[in-house]
Amino acid sequence: MELEYNILAIEVTRRCNQRCEGFCMRGEAQNLDIDFKYIDKLLENDFKGVSKLVFTGGEPTLNPEVIAYTIDKIIEANLPFVTIDMVTNGLVYSQKIVDAFERFCKYVKNSDILGDFSEFGCFVRESLLKGDLSFANISFSNDSHHKGISSDVINSYYDNCKDTRLSMMGEPTLVLRSGFSNYGLSMKNSIDNKIVGDLVVNGILLTTKGNVCLHGAAGSYDFIDSHSVGNSILHKSLNEYCLDVLPREKEKVKIR
Ligand code: SF4
Repeated sequence: MELEYNILAIEVTRRCNQRCEGFCMRGEAQNLDIDFKYIDKLLENDFKGVSKLVFTGGEPTLNPEVIAYTIDKIIEANLPFVTIDMVTNGLVYSQKIVDAFERFCKYVKNSDILGDFSEFGCFVRESLLKGDLSFANISFSNDSHHKGISSDVINSYYDNCKDTRLSMMGEPTLVLRSGFSNYGLSMKNSIDNKIVGDLVVNGILLTTKGNVCLHGAAGSYDFIDSHSVGNSILHKSLNEYCLDVLPREKEKVKIR
């Protein structure tokens, strides 16, 4: 069965060039980058559609090679991915990432994957109806917990992004108590994954260790690891892991 994903995230690295004490929900950085073999395996899945692919970390700009590789594989295989996203702390300008994000925008614009947008998940359908869909988005963490972003870095992104939308995150409204973060919502309130018809509503994360975390990209590395251990992307398809979640709920709901 082909499934459609609202949000799919790839943890491209656990390295970071900052240490946001008292704030970072990931916790201590780790010297880990995702292996290309996990990306290959992920993209071999039968996707009905992916509304949003998020490159997360750690600091994602520290692993531009994997980001560009993933985007080029999506384009080469003509996969139904509609938007891509990345949040960066803005300390590094990466031409490789900008070029790849721009290639992705051209790919979606020139492909027919948006032909029947009723096929796509909540997020994409809403944005298309509002006429407010940007195929590639880069946001900067400019809140009071991060180091200031240099104007040189910001200007380089603005000078070189044509179709990629750039934005500032501002102060966070939702903070999770996990990793270094000692305030906000407890991770006990983490959202369980839900499948409505053939749509996987919440976020799914592929970790740097090649495991599938059905609770998405929120929380510390310890939380993510303990909720993904044994779920190797090498051993089962993504859809098989997702169908393991709430199978009764899936039967109860109507297929769109
Ligand atoms: S919040 Fe982001 S920039 Fe800060 S330490 Fe965590 S991963 Fe790094």
